Amino acid sequence: MKIFAHRKFLLFVFSFFIALSTFATAPIKALIITGQNNHNWQVSHVVLKNIMENSGLFTVDFSISPKHGEKMNNYIIDFSPYQLVVLDYNGDNWPKTTQDRFLEYVRNGGGVVVYHAANNAFTDWVEFNKIIALGGWNNRNESSGPWVYWKDNKLVRDNSPGVGGSHGQQSEYVLNARNTKHPIVKGLPPKWKHGKDELYDRMRGPGDIKDLLYTAYSEPSLGGSDREEPLIFTVEYGKGKIFHIMLGHAGDSPENNPSMQCTGFQVLLLRGSEWAATGKVTQPVPKDFPTATSASFRKDYKAP
Ligand SMILES: [Zn+2]
Repeated sequence: MKIFAHRKFLLFVFSFFIALSTFATAPIKALIITGQNNHNWQVSHVVLKNIMENSGLFTVDFSISPKHGEKMNNYIIDFSPYQLVVLDYNGDNWPKTTQDRFLEYVRNGGGVVVYHAANNAFTDWVEFNKIIALGGWNNRNESSGPWVYWKDNKLVRDNSPGVGGSHGQQSEYVLNARNTKHPIVKGLPPKWKHGKDELYDRMRGPGDIKDLLYTAYSEPSLGGSDREEPLIFTVEYGKGKIFHIMLGHAGDSPENNPSMQCTGFQVLLLRGSEWAATGKVTQPVPKDFPTATSASFRKDYKAP
């Protein structure tokens, strides 16, 4: 009888550790929302899923909206299974039920990634603009909030009138770290060269950036703003953590897609996604990360 009890106890301890290790390694459940975008979402959403799933850290589902101009009132999303929502959507307004559920999801601690043109969406949705902090295009102007950019070693808010959102010609450009301690960027180089991409500038919004991670200089000779623009940062909304990355203009195919094939883009996406979902980053700094002078690429969206 005594031996039996002892065995039972060992079995309990064993199951406990199995459960613990399963918990520790269970992939993060993520949902990518797409289906309308003035960008090549047919490429971007598949590439985002590949990057995320190839890391072994995430399982990714899609929510694909009706087409632009179609009836939206049945587009109801259930956020409850997910720890992370990745926004790859720039299109018609969601129905109120989906808007309300999204805000509730974020307020209650859900993680969000705002990817590239997702920050063009929903100009008139006040709470959404708090979540993204900065947005562009779709009639944004000074009524959307200040321009926010890096000047004299700090973020400044500039209420001058003018356009919200523009970019110059695509080019390779250098990202400059404005934070070295945040878990998303800890150990990454203070400067790294990004693959050819757009550089979003003159973005406007409520502008409540929590942690500014990287800026880049928008070159006037390429049609840019002549400002150091905030391109990668975090936002807080309720208990929710938001990772906003303005990089990643999708190419015409997964094979011709330098902005997303860039190792720096992929590593930041993965680290920012893990942080937004869990508050931690368990990923080591990879050896193939770009340097200040040369971009590097994971053309198949996998770590070597
Ligand atoms: Zn773009």
